[in-house]
Amino acid sequence: MEFADLKAQYARLKQPIRERIDAVLEHGRFIMGPEIAELESKLAAYARTRHCVTCASGTDALLMPLMAWNIGPGDAVFVPVFTFFATAETAALLGATPIFVDIKPDTFNIDAAKLEKAVEAVIKQDPSIHPLPKQALTARLKPKAVIPVDLFGQAADYQKITAVADKRQLLVLEDAAQAFGGAHHGRKICGLGCRAAATSFFPAKPLGCYGDGGAIFTDDDELADILQSIRVHGKGSHKYDNARIGLNGRLDTLQAAILLPKLDILDDEIAARNSVARRYNDNLKNVKLTTPTIADGNYSAWAQYSVLSDRRDRLTAALKDKGIPTNIYYPKPLHAQSAMAYLGYEDAAFPIANAVSQRIFSLPMHPYLSETDIDSITAALAENA
Ligand SMILES: *Cc1c(COP(=O)(O)O)cnc(C)c1O
Repeated sequence: MEFADLKAQYARLKQPIRERIDAVLEHGRFIMGPEIAELESKLAAYARTRHCVTCASGTDALLMPLMAWNIGPGDAVFVPVFTFFATAETAALLGATPIFVDIKPDTFNIDAAKLEKAVEAVIKQDPSIHPLPKQALTARLKPKAVIPVDLFGQAADYQKITAVADKRQLLVLEDAAQAFGGAHHGRKICGLGCRAAATSFFPAKPLGCYGDGGAIFTDDDELADILQSIRVHGKGSHKYDNARIGLNGRLDTLQAAILLPKLDILDDEIAARNSVARRYNDNLKNVKLTTPTIADGNYSAWAQYSVLSDRRDRLTAALKDKGIPTNIYYPKPLHAQSAMAYLGYEDAAFPIANAVSQRIFSLPMHPYLSETDIDSITAALAENA
């Protein structure tokens, strides 16, 4: 059994993907070929945003808007403490200070009430209001941005987050690396009205290519222009005129060609993932573990189906014995990562994330998971929970 079965999808799309790849090999425009503009216009139409700027990875999709906003030393960037490393890494890479915020125990997404406290704590330099990194005590940091993450495929609570962000003039960058194809109160993920949204086309994400890739979505015309410049070494009016410091941040034409046929079936695949999740939920109703909570108004892209149990080691071992793979996202909250030790957070600063990271694990999840496989996974859990 596969954890995320890319071969089943390839069997379905073999012909259109090969035709698209062949077309690129024939025209030979491997860098910024015509498939890039075609994909960007289809992605923008899908998310209903004015602009989509593709780029080399989900990490660059986070980094580039932060660069465009001139975020750097002295700036505070608020991020959930329970996410993939890149969410905080990009802010730290630019010299800004990541300010970690604990998550909600049910959705695992950033807790907007704690975000509000964290902003207040930074402004007042008062760690009794909310845990702060050392840097926030020795220097007066400027609250600049928040990066909510749509963890495992479902949107964060944007209504509450936006209320805090508007009050405190924070830029909101949606990290939708795990959620493209999902929706929130009837709007597609990446088109929720945040100043910018970032997604990833890493192969295992809900919309994945065959290598690295990413995209940024925005309704802000000026930001879109700056992102296009940053993507090509900060180019100005022509290739050898450099207006700002940028990156080599382009998506390969070949990856765009691969994504086009995959985008055509994305809605169908997300619906299939929702069916898998429903069957897991039904089968696990009377099993002693915590199944995922989807907040009102959310349609999840189900990047992961993650459960909580006090007997994680026993359950994952029992599944492994039956040839069923599992993964742990994430065994360590970000404040406990060695790379973030310079922030000086105490281990116990984020009790919800700490508790979740001890108990969480993810079951196989992909659109082609058969009912027989789902039933054998849940039977093995029922026997051992
Ligand atoms: C995968 C992921 C990223 C980074 O995407 P890459 O394409 O691997 O660079 C960022 N944030 C989250 C939440 C992710 O899951």
